[in-house]
Formats: sequence, C-alpha cells, structure tokens
Amino acid sequence: EEADLGPEQTGLVIANYGTQVLVESLAEPSLRQRCHVRANIETLVTGDRVAWRSAISERTGGLGVVGARLERTSELQRPDRYGDLKTVAANIDRIVIVIAPRPEPFANAIDRYLVAAESTGIAPLLLLNKIDLIDDSNREQLQDLLEPYPALGYPVLKLSTKTGEGLEPLLATLAKGTSVFVGQSGVGKSSLINALLPEAGARTGALSEATQKGTHTTTAAELFHLPSGGDLIDSPGIREFGLWHMSEQALLEGFVEFRPFIGHCRFRDCRHQGEPGCAINEALARGDISERRMNSFLHLRNSLQEE
Ligand code: GDP
Ligand code: ZN
Repeated sequence: EEADLGPEQTGLVIANYGTQVLVESLAEPSLRQRCHVRANIETLVTGDRVAWRSAISERTGGLGVVGARLERTSELQRPDRYGDLKTVAANIDRIVIVIAPRPEPFANAIDRYLVAAESTGIAPLLLLNKIDLIDDSNREQLQDLLEPYPALGYPVLKLSTKTGEGLEPLLATLAKGTSVFVGQSGVGKSSLINALLPEAGARTGALSEATQKGTHTTTAAELFHLPSGGDLIDSPGIREFGLWHMSEQALLEGFVEFRPFIGHCRFRDCRHQGEPGCAINEALARGDISERRMNSFLHLRNSLQEE
C-alpha cells in the first residue's frame, strides 16, 4: 500500500461522509481526494486540517489516507439528539449572525446568538440583510436595535441580497478566514449563500458527488471557497447554531461588557437584581452596562428557567 500513496502533506477536510472524508491539498488546491480515515485518529469534521497522503495509483481504489488530525483553532458545537454537545465544524474564524427587518428582529434574540458565539471564542459579526425593506416605519427601530453593538466590539454590516447593495463590504470581510452564517429562519441565509456561490452546482458539489457514489451523508456540513476569497462552511445544522439551552454562567459571561464585574458582587449568589453591593447593578448605574443589554440578560435568564 505504501507505494500507492504520495508523501505526507497537509490537507483541509471539505466534507465528511462518515467513514470517509473529502480532503483538499493545502499546497495544491486542485488536488481533491476522497480519503480513508485511519481507525485510531480523532473524529474529523468539515474544516479540520489533517496530515494525509494522496493516492497515486488505482490500487487503493483512488482513496487517499488521513493519518492525523492537526490542532484546531476553534470548534462549532451543537447538541446531538441526546443533548450531548458534538463538534460539527472546526477552524471557523467568524460567525455571521444574519437578521432582517422582516421577520422582525428582537434584541433578546440577537443577544442570545452573541452569547452562543462568545462561548465558542469565534468572532461574531452582525449582518442586517434586506435593507431594501427599510422605510419610515422601521428605520429608527432598527437603528436603536443595532446601536450598542459596534462599541461592544461587534461589527455591523448592512446588505440587500435582493438589490446587491452592501455586497462589496461583506465580500471584503469574508475574504479572510472561514465563516458560517446563522440566524432565524426567513432572514435570507439561503438566498445570500446562493448569491455568494454563483457557479451552478457549487452549492452541492462535493456532497452530491458523494451521493452519486452511494455514500450516506448525514453530517452534511460542507466547505466552499468563495470566488472573491475566503471560505464558507454551511449545513442546515450550522445555520441553527445557538438555538439550544445554555447555562446561566455561560449567559452571564456571554455579555462581554459584564465580564469585568463578574465575581465582584457582595453576595456569591447575587441575582444582579437590586441586591446591595451588586457590581453588575453598580456598572449599570454608572452607564458601563446599558439598560438595553441588562434587560436582555434578565429576559434570557428567565427564559432559560422556563426551558
Ligand atoms: P433563510 O430561511 O434564512 O434561508 O431565508 P431565505 O433565503 O429562504 O429567504 C426568506 C425570504 O426572504 C425569501 O422569500 C427571499 O426571497 C427573501 N429575501 C432574501 N433576501 C432578501 C433581501 O435582501 N430583500 C428582500 N426584500 N427579500 C429577501
Ligand atoms: Zn450582582
């Protein structure tokens, strides 16, 4: 078998077919091969960097071999059907949280996505899509809604997938690193991703190829190269990122501007709702925490208890 394989090199996992993965050579991106995964290596997901050897003869059935998973810079996780967190993609640099004038966006929902993003350590970006729907009835409301975020370190971009307005700045941002798009149903994620990957068939390339070969595709996350630069990882499961249960501690820490005050309340079991010596409430009174984000925190904490 050794003679049928090329030298070891670094690759990128484009898609995962269960027992096999599609790997692209980092040095030579036109080289893509389905690979057998050695039994003793850690689980692979789309976006993983691997050490692999390509097939150089037909005797391996054209299959390369993955020998090792390289260190991950980040992981995107979601609960499986038993509630255990499972990694669904790796080495993501940016979570694009898509919102739109319709369906109407709520501060709580945006903050919930941001908290979920914070728990991964991956930088979030807010993207207001459908700006062609902005008019006098919703302009001010949207402005107020998005006003706090740039100062908290969350960039806000605006776009109409329909008219193309705002597309250039988005492409420039996406051109570096690997992004995922998340957000509630109806905000325009599918439309936007289709617009970003215009070549026919690009959307389903690697996975439909796998299906033709009769491979079962359950974990359908797939990596795409954007024509204007940068990578995109997408799957229905990834688009739903952030909608699951989170712990109260994760919630508190997910409000970035709260962090300097966490652990400084007089009482260890402080609920941050008017207790004496509450460091969070003091920060609120000083204006270091906005009313709007505090309300959002309290609302999300209540909804966690109801889940
Ligand atoms: P998803 O559920 O987030 O994937 O949303 P879709 O991509 O399915 O879009 C939901 C609806 O919004 C569709 O009817 C789209 O045509 C529409 N839509 C998407 N982007 C825009 C936009 O920029 N402007 C307007 N007016 N409609 C849009
Ligand atoms: Zn407190």
